[in-house]
Amino acid sequence: MDTLTLKIVFFAGIVLFFFIRYPYQQQNKKNQITDDRKTSQEKFLLVLVFLGMLLIPNIYVFSPLLSFADYQLPETVSIVGILLYAISMYLFWKSHHDLGQNWSPSLEMRAEHTLITNGIYKSIRHPMYTSVWLWCLAQALLLPNYIAGFSGITSFAILYFLRVSNEEKMMLDQFGDEYQSYMQSTGRVLPKLFF
Ligand code: SAH
Repeated sequence: MDTLTLKIVFFAGIVLFFFIRYPYQQQNKKNQITDDRKTSQEKFLLVLVFLGMLLIPNIYVFSPLLSFADYQLPETVSIVGILLYAISMYLFWKSHHDLGQNWSPSLEMRAEHTLITNGIYKSIRHPMYTSVWLWCLAQALLLPNYIAGFSGITSFAILYFLRVSNEEKMMLDQFGDEYQSYMQSTGRVLPKLFF
């Protein structure tokens, strides 16, 4: 597949990502934040992910600045990339849909916060992060460039491993035993069955 097509596919995914998120972002504004754990580490992680998943790949898509780091990829890799991108989009939508107004871009609890344990959350505790892992894999397979291809997965891996246990601690503080037993029956990013 030629590079221009891959760039168009990747950029279309970014546009879709914002379309999926926008209505939930609007809906969330009504649900007041009651516990804000957006530490300076969290703010740093959000900036890092912005660079790795948005700014750097878009510099690659829209300018020749990173072309010195280009390489070739076989067609089958691009096809797998498109497939993973599509699955990522579906999971991204599904997790927003099931989480409803409990969603936050960072570690926050809200006034009307309820523990979601159904839908996709019945078997996976962090399906939105599953979708972002898939997105980052797709980014690596769709963009044949050492910098723009791998900046997503590098930055998200740092965010994921530093954030996920803090998020679970926050949920345990809020929901106690209820979250504890929910943890027993679910896997973090894949259903427990496959862990
Ligand atoms: N980690 C989850 C959610 C990401 S959004 C996922 O990957 O799907 C982050 C916010 O979601 C957190 O600040 C927390 O307040 C909220 N959250 C996480 N799991 C939740 C659950 N099971 N029910 C309700 N809210 C949850």
